[in-house]
Amino acid sequence: MVSTPKKNPLIISVAIPIPLNRLFDYLVPNHFTHRLLQTGTRVVIPFGSTTKVGFVIENSKSSDINIDRLKQIIEVLDESPLIGKKDIQLLQWASNYYHYPLGEVFSAAFPVSLRKGKQAKLKEEKHYFISDKGKLLNSEQLKRTPKQKQLFEFFQSQNKSLSAHEISAWNKNWHPAVKALFEKDLLSIELKARPLFKNVAASESPLVPNEQQSLAIHELTKKLGYFSVSLLEGVTGSGKTEVYMQVIQQVLDRGQQVIVLLPEITLTPQLENRFKKRFSVGLSISHSKLTETQRHAAWLEMQQGHSSILLGTRSALFTPLKKLGLIILDEEHDSSFKQQEGFRFSARDLAILRAKLFNVPIILGTATPSLESLHNAEKKRYQLLHLSERAGVAIEPKFLLFDIRNKKLQDGLSEPLVTHIKKTLAKKEQVLLFLNRRGFAPVQICHTCAWVARCNHCDTCLVIHFAEKVLRCHHCGYQQGLLNQCPSCKAGELKPLGLGTERIEQGLQTLFPKQKIVRLDRDTTQRKGSLKKHLEKINQGEVDIILGTQMLAKGHHFPNVTLVAILDVDSGLFSIDFHATEKLAQLITQVAGRAGRAEKPGKVILQTRQPNHPLLTVLLKEGYNRFAQTALAERRQASLPPFSFQALLRVYASNPADPQAFLKSVCTTIKQINNNNTLILGPVSAPMAKRAGYYHFQLLLQNKHRKHLQILLDQLIPQLYKLKEGKKVRWSIDVDPVDLY
Ligand code: ADP
Ligand code: ZN
Ligand code: ZN
Repeated sequence: MVSTPKKNPLIISVAIPIPLNRLFDYLVPNHFTHRLLQTGTRVVIPFGSTTKVGFVIENSKSSDINIDRLKQIIEVLDESPLIGKKDIQLLQWASNYYHYPLGEVFSAAFPVSLRKGKQAKLKEEKHYFISDKGKLLNSEQLKRTPKQKQLFEFFQSQNKSLSAHEISAWNKNWHPAVKALFEKDLLSIELKARPLFKNVAASESPLVPNEQQSLAIHELTKKLGYFSVSLLEGVTGSGKTEVYMQVIQQVLDRGQQVIVLLPEITLTPQLENRFKKRFSVGLSISHSKLTETQRHAAWLEMQQGHSSILLGTRSALFTPLKKLGLIILDEEHDSSFKQQEGFRFSARDLAILRAKLFNVPIILGTATPSLESLHNAEKKRYQLLHLSERAGVAIEPKFLLFDIRNKKLQDGLSEPLVTHIKKTLAKKEQVLLFLNRRGFAPVQICHTCAWVARCNHCDTCLVIHFAEKVLRCHHCGYQQGLLNQCPSCKAGELKPLGLGTERIEQGLQTLFPKQKIVRLDRDTTQRKGSLKKHLEKINQGEVDIILGTQMLAKGHHFPNVTLVAILDVDSGLFSIDFHATEKLAQLITQVAGRAGRAEKPGKVILQTRQPNHPLLTVLLKEGYNRFAQTALAERRQASLPPFSFQALLRVYASNPADPQAFLKSVCTTIKQINNNNTLILGPVSAPMAKRAGYYHFQLLLQNKHRKHLQILLDQLIPQLYKLKEGKKVRWSIDVDPVDLY
């Protein structure tokens, strides 16, 4: 036990990853004081009955707590912080803005391994090099052992240390010769960090850019070295990725690193392959499906500068870099860039702030810009760059609206749609059908008494999964066997109501018994590698009809698809969430982007019971941009974001009275703070009030000025921790919510 230093003890404050928005003071025992504990350094500290890894925030401070009651840190994990000052600034800003505990925010920036206190070291491996004694040797002296001579000459020609891997690549049977030379003291060994990626020579040269690509590349290149935001708007297939790659090359030539963020894990392999063909630099990948070891390695490869390109999803944004030169965020409109639980940050907004702090450019790419980004472009905060034509020879698809009111549908397909499918298949081209609901049917209903199978834990119906013979809740995962008889009237026959992808697949099999049909949804792609296998089959032309949910809308290349149909657009037209129409328009445009990507013209069919809905008509007749203008005008009228700023307070508990009591008390507190230019909308029950046995309620706060809303939250949130009604509920705050659900 180390004794407490009595004179001028060193006190530090530490951010600990726990759900409390405050720092904790600790003493640094004398035997540590020779080290300056800079902000960001990881330390092991006692906490309650356990120990935790925390992050030093402040050094040499005084404490409000009596020194005798302060505990001592146990260990210092890093000689110097693993993340730089600007990144620490970013995390502090994020903690303030999203009102989320600093310790948790810091923790989010580190891979799990480092959060647990693992050493910040890449795996090491042995490298061999010619020893001092070896340097004096003439290889002719080894002529009696030809293998050793050959190997020795190889080392001489390489003039650097070589790993076992590199020697193997040269000659598989190297081992005995290396051992012999090592024993003769002609070779020495050193340990070197071993990055995960394997460097391979790039095989592909840049394409000759078309006029618009040239302009975009020129504009983006001019901006290197300074902060700016560019919105690269280009339809799917217009050659955005080619533009990224040519700009990335320039950043690499400057000796800098690049972060490329994507919304979906499933999109990374595709881009990874394209990058590997183009660049021979180290490429690291980071997303949540990788192992702890892989993420640990990717993080350190970037931090230590072994890799030059990081390809990752949302949380990869925080990876520290030795020399950041450019950030690219592809599919910027995608709501997956907003984390929907815990630390609810927007990776897009924080990426822009990070670019600003580092004084580097950021490129936001998309075919369907978010309304916020378009608004920022209008205000000249972002520079808008267009790629309006499809690269190569592909042409824009044609839209057709099919009115299905009073029409007979066969398993969700109208007659004219079936005709179009047949025609397309006859030409040996592929069809893609889109329905955003998995399972067989969303409802099981009694034909006699109208009883429906509902989830006992949620305000929702159980979805029929026919092949698995279960009824399943898509919200809490509850499942039970299929019912044969109505439990209510004991007589009625139970029927499936509504459509899911499984049911459409069955219908298609009856309609097109000879065709190969593939269904892509969460149920069919759960097993590792199965999505990849399906995609390969599709691209090799082994599939005629592709059917799936929204996972089809994102970025995949299907060059032989010439007919795309959205079976039910109506469900997106009537939502209480004002974001829904924007999302629907993006979805339709993105799905349409799957049609006619190669030299064959494509067709997009929308089935609807709302053929005159203004959203659909504007979108189809005048395009996404015109739609966006209309939608922005509506938002302005209604003072909705981006013309105002919102924060959503979500609350839940197992007893519905508790969240209500809490929110009532919150409203009183807000009125006391008397920030009367903030609109208080609610409290109301959440759109689906009961979920997994808990009752959800919410309160929406809205202000025309970001700053005023922040000032209110700054005052309000510390109070929330103190409210006695808060003890019985769980609450969270979501700043700039993208989903009001
Ligand atoms: P996006 O990222 O906008 O979807 P890509 O960069 O993937 O578009 O380009 C779509 C297709 O067009 C790819 O097959 C790509 O190789 C090709 N392409 C892109 N730019 C050119 C060009 N300048 N000349 C010829 N083909 C191009
Ligand atoms: Zn019944
Ligand atoms: Zn449920």
